[in-house]
Amino acid sequence: MHERCGSCRACLDACPTDAFDAPFQLDARRCISYLTIEHRGAIDPSLMEATDDWLFGCDVCQEVCPWNRRVEPADDPAFAPLPALAEIGLASLLDADEARIRELTRGSPLARARPAGLLRNALVAAVHAGLHDEALHAAWRLDGHEDDGVRAAARWVIERAETGSQD
Ligand code: SF4
Ligand code: SF4
Repeated sequence: MHERCGSCRACLDACPTDAFDAPFQLDARRCISYLTIEHRGAIDPSLMEATDDWLFGCDVCQEVCPWNRRVEPADDPAFAPLPALAEIGLASLLDADEARIRELTRGSPLARARPAGLLRNALVAAVHAGLHDEALHAAWRLDGHEDDGVRAAARWVIERAETGSQD
């Protein structure tokens, strides 16, 4: 494929987790898109700090790429949000049980992360979005969850609250 980056390093410099080792070399284990969509189980605490309020994937490298400035938003209905998903916010996602999350995400790419992955991500994202009380209440409830990733995220929320290291 023809390389069109030239001297640009915008995506490497903007990546919140420093996931690029070098141009064209991405360490997926540090990429928020990988961590929030494909990764199963616990996310490293240092990466939870950097994940910010991304619930599912990350668009930072796409947003800063100069080539994408010319792209028009898609108006194809296939790309429109599912009505049920358009209504749900982080707080209600934290309150939802797994059956409800499955129902909400059916037919959407979000189903890829599975309910446990979305709950894990929602705990982390809620803290970064300033929803500290909602995150803490959900964390207490989910601290004994069967999924490692949910438990680790719940613990991270609780420990942050206990040490006062909230955003
Ligand atoms: S998707 Fe986000 S975390 Fe992953 S490489 Fe791009 S900017 Fe970095
Ligand atoms: S931001 Fe776009 S043009 Fe710049 S280095 Fe990254 S992929 Fe290449």
